Amino acid sequence: MKNNTNLSAPFSFILPTRIEYGTGCLAKLPDILKEAGVKRPLLVTDKGIKAAGIVDKVTACLDGADVTYLVFDNIEPNPKDYNVEEGAAVAREFGADSIIAVGGGSPIDCSKSIGVLLAHDADKIKPYEGKTGVKKAIPPLFTVPTTSGTGSELTFSSVITDTANQYKMTVKSPLIAASVALCDPELTVSVPASVTAATGVDALTHAIEAYTANCSEPFSDAAALYAIELIYNNLETAVNDGANIGAREAMLMGSMLAGVAFSHSDVASVHCIAETLGGIYDLPHGLCNAIFLPHMMEYNSCCCQDKYARVARAMGLEFATEEEGAAKAVAAVQQLCLDVDLPEFKSLNVPEESFQRIAEISARNISTESNPRPMAVEDYVAVLKKANQ
Ligand code: NAD
Repeated sequence: MKNNTNLSAPFSFILPTRIEYGTGCLAKLPDILKEAGVKRPLLVTDKGIKAAGIVDKVTACLDGADVTYLVFDNIEPNPKDYNVEEGAAVAREFGADSIIAVGGGSPIDCSKSIGVLLAHDADKIKPYEGKTGVKKAIPPLFTVPTTSGTGSELTFSSVITDTANQYKMTVKSPLIAASVALCDPELTVSVPASVTAATGVDALTHAIEAYTANCSEPFSDAAALYAIELIYNNLETAVNDGANIGAREAMLMGSMLAGVAFSHSDVASVHCIAETLGGIYDLPHGLCNAIFLPHMMEYNSCCCQDKYARVARAMGLEFATEEEGAAKAVAAVQQLCLDVDLPEFKSLNVPEESFQRIAEISARNISTESNPRPMAVEDYVAVLKKANQ
């Protein structure tokens, strides 16, 4: 198969986060805090993580460390600007010198933005939207992912809902990356099957969009292709047998690699739609990505057959021509979404009258230009209508 990575284009690759990976690696947290010299961490999480008993596991570690901590669990899914602002006020009052983010993408993203407000001595997150707003490194951030989906423990992005304008903005800079990510697959065992399915296809979306994005580069391609192999071959087991630690390990590793991939390449139109739906209707991000991945792949297929064929190879599928490989990749993703019981778009009851608005917001999203096939407003409307049939 021919090489389809552009080896002539210059690129820059930075991964400022130290990764500690492995079942039971949460136990390293006290030593990591000691090495970093922090004394007053704010532990940022949400109520679902608390109910799953994960906060107790983390605080049991902290109780043996020479630190004074405070738990802040007021984070909503699709975290809101006011969650960030409240978290920063709590951190200031407590005198936090660092943040421990425990959870899925929502608490981790919120923690990054809380860090931005602390670093800049600011009250509102809106001015830091985009790729150039952040000027100062955030206080030490330690991320403990509990879902295998967003890769936020390693990425430079913080996705926050701008509640006044009902859309999800991104604060993006290597200055908001975690100091250390403690990636312990054991902490993902309690993720319910439906969340495992949605977050898992979210990670697969990161990998496929990163690999096929117009701005992809060799290091992110390598990470993306291995992520596709791991996720495609383990998601169904993780959904049907949540206690299977081998499948959970593969899923966490796949989502970490996919996070590294899209941080350095980009995501594309699947994400543009998912973020728009999350901003307007507060729908779960992973679910929206999962619903639109097969539809966007079908739409894009004509423009990146060679890359989709390589995706098929990473999945372990056999084919004779690139055209056949690309078709098999699209069909395999469609089948996987059915096998893990992901719902169809029409079950979300998004009114057809809103498709034009969803399309307009999606087309304005900066990642639209990374999509391998040009996407105008009318193209987004067409994909939304097809998905709604
Ligand atoms: P989430 O963090 O919103 O969590 C979803 C639900 O699962 C919550 O109710 C949570 O309590 C529960 N949960 C999480 N871990 C659990 C566990 N181990 N056991 C039991 N319950 C558990 O979901 P997510 O998909 O991880 O994150 C979504 C957010 O991340 C969205 O806002 C999305 O925009 C953002 N995101 C960020 C990036 C990034 O690079 N920063 C990338 C993709 C998505």
